[in-house]
Amino acid sequence: MTGYVPKFATFAIAAFVHTAAFAALMDGSYVASAPGVWGSPVETTVVVKQGKIADISFKHNETEGVGSRALDVIARSVVKTQSLAVDAVSGATASSKAALMALSVALQKAGYQASNGVKNTVQTAFGDASADVVVVGGGPGGMMAAIELSRAGKDVILLEKLGVLGGNGTFTSTYIQAGGTVVQAKHKSTDTTVEGFAKYLSGYPDTDPVMAQTVAPESKVVVDFLVENGADLDRIFKPFAHAPSDGRAPGLEITKTFTKALEKEKVDVRLNARATRILMKDGRAVGVEVTPLSGKPYKVTAKAVILATGGFSASKEMLKQFAPEAAVLGTTNSAGTQGDGHRLAQEVGAKLTDMGKIVLNPSTYNANGTQISFTALRFTSGGIMVNQSGNRFIDDTSNDKTGVTQAMIKATGGTGKAFLIFDQSSVSKLAIIKDYVQKGYVLHDKSLENLAKRLGIDPKGLANTIAKYKTYAESGNDPEFGRKTFGCKFDTLPYYGVKIEPAVHATLGGIAINTKAQALDKNGVPIKGLYAVGQVTDSNLGRHNVNVFVPPSFARIAVREILKETK
Ligand SMILES: Cc1cc2nc3c(=O)[nH]c(=O)nc-3n(C[C@H](O)[C@H](O)[C@H](O)COP(=O)(O)OP(=O)(O)OC[C@H]3O[C@@H](n4cnc5c(N)ncnc54)[C@H](O)[C@@H]3O)c2cc1C
Repeated sequence: MTGYVPKFATFAIAAFVHTAAFAALMDGSYVASAPGVWGSPVETTVVVKQGKIADISFKHNETEGVGSRALDVIARSVVKTQSLAVDAVSGATASSKAALMALSVALQKAGYQASNGVKNTVQTAFGDASADVVVVGGGPGGMMAAIELSRAGKDVILLEKLGVLGGNGTFTSTYIQAGGTVVQAKHKSTDTTVEGFAKYLSGYPDTDPVMAQTVAPESKVVVDFLVENGADLDRIFKPFAHAPSDGRAPGLEITKTFTKALEKEKVDVRLNARATRILMKDGRAVGVEVTPLSGKPYKVTAKAVILATGGFSASKEMLKQFAPEAAVLGTTNSAGTQGDGHRLAQEVGAKLTDMGKIVLNPSTYNANGTQISFTALRFTSGGIMVNQSGNRFIDDTSNDKTGVTQAMIKATGGTGKAFLIFDQSSVSKLAIIKDYVQKGYVLHDKSLENLAKRLGIDPKGLANTIAKYKTYAESGNDPEFGRKTFGCKFDTLPYYGVKIEPAVHATLGGIAINTKAQALDKNGVPIKGLYAVGQVTDSNLGRHNVNVFVPPSFARIAVREILKETK
C-alpha cells in the first residue's frame, strides 16, 4: 500500500476485493462525482460492456501533474484489474480518494450491490462485532471521539458511511476558533483567553452561556491537539480564528491530522459502513446496526454510542420537511449530510429541536452543481459584493451569513445571483483563492469595464461603486453599510470577479443534548448510553453551532462522560 492511512485503505478496499463482483455489472455508461481537493468535483464516467468495466474517464479540476496523474493511474489500474482494490497514488491521496469514491458510486449505479447475489468478502471482514464504544460518523466530531477513546484505552469502532473520512470538516474553508491556544500564546495575542472565548460566544444571540463556558476550554485543547500533531494553524486573524499560515483552507489540515492520529492509535475504522439503526436494550443504547456499501447488515454492540453524523444540508427530503424555502438551493456540504443521525435518534425517542433553522452561505460559486464557498475571501481580504447594476447592498464582510443572503436576494430582484469583485491583493493573500483562480471559477481583467461586461454587470454602476468604496477604504469609514475592515483597496491590478449565489451552508437544528453531550428525550431526560456531538445536535451555541471547533469539543466531553460511566 502506498496510500496514506493504510489501515483505512485496506478497509475501503475490503469492500471491493473481488473481481467476481464486477461480473454482475449491467452494461451502460454511468456517471458519478465526489468532491476532490478543495471540494471541486471529480466526475467519472464508467462504461460497462459485457458486464466488465471497459473504460473510465474523469472530468476534474485537480492539480495538473499531481491529482490529474493520480486519476490517470487509477483509471488504468481499475480497468486492468477490474477491481477497486488499487492503491491511492502517493502524494495525491485526496484526489485518489475522490476518484475511488466517485467510481464506487458509479459502480453501485451499475448494479454493484449485495442484492445482486454477488459473493461478498466484506461479510467475512466485518461481521457482528463488539466494542466498548461505537462512534457513528467520521467527521471532526467522530474522529476526535474515537481518538480520545482509544487514548483512554477503550476499544472503539468508528463507522463512516462514505469511502473517505473527514465529512464537512475537510471543506472547512476559513478558520477554526478557540481561545488560549498554543498558537495564540506564541503570537502573544492579548484578548484570546479561554474565558474571553466563552464571553465572545455568549455575546451572540441564541447562545446559552452555560454551553459557551462548557465548550470554550475544550476548543483550546482541540486546537492545541491539532497543532501538536502537525497541523499548520499558525495564522491568527479576527480574535480566536486559526488558519494555515499561507492562506490555505484549514479543512485538509484538520482531516489529515485527525486521520494520522487515528492511524497512530490503530483505531478500527470502517469506511462505507452506514449505521442504520440504534440497538436498544432496557431503555439503553447498546450498539448499532450497520449496513455496509456492499454486504449484509451486521451489528456492533457497545456500552455506549456516539452519534457524530453531521447535519442534513444535502437531504432535499429533510429540507423540504423543515426548511422548504431552502430546498431549491444547492449546498456546499458533503454528500454525507443526510440527517441520518437525526432520524436514528428520533426513532429511539430523542428530541429534535430547532429543525427549521438553517444557515445560508451567500458567497458560493456553482461549479457544475458543487457549491464552492468564497467565505474565506469575504472574511479575510475583503472584496465587495454587488448586484447586476454594480451596486453594493450590505457590509460585504459581515459574519451574519443568513442576513447577507437576505439582503442579496432583495438587491437582486429575488434571484440571489450577485457578484464578488476583488483585486490582485486579495488573491495574493489567500492560497485557497489562488487555487480557485487556477480552476477557472474566477474571471480577471486589467480593465474594470471589460470585467464588468464579461460578468454581465453594468460597467458604469460598478465603476461608480468602486470609486465610492475606495474613499471609504481610505477614510476607514463606510457610511452606507458600516463596513469596518478594508483588506481590499482596489489598488493592485488585475481586477477579479466571480458570480455568486446562496447555498445551504449548515443546518442548526438537531438532537437536544445537555452539557455532557448526552442525547435527551422529549422530557429532557438523558437516553442512557446515547451521546451526540457536532452538527447532528442542537448544541445551543446559536450561530456557532455550525462551527468546526464544536464537534471535537463536544466529542471530548462525551468521552469524558463515557469514561466516568463505564469505569
Ligand atoms: C464549505 C464549508 C466551509 C466551512 N468552513 C468552516 C470554517 O471556515 N470554520 C468553521 O468553524 N466551520 C466551517 N464549516 C463547518 C464545519 O465543517 C462543520 O461544523 C464540521 O465539519 C461538522 O463536523 P461534524 O463531525 O459534526 O459533521 P461532518 O463533518 O458533517 O461529519 C459527519 C460524518 O458522518 C458521516 N455519516 C453520516 N451519517 C452516517 C451514518 N448513518 N453512518 C456512518 N457515517 C455517517 C458523514 O458521511 C460524515 O463523514 C464549513 C462547512 C462547509 C460545508
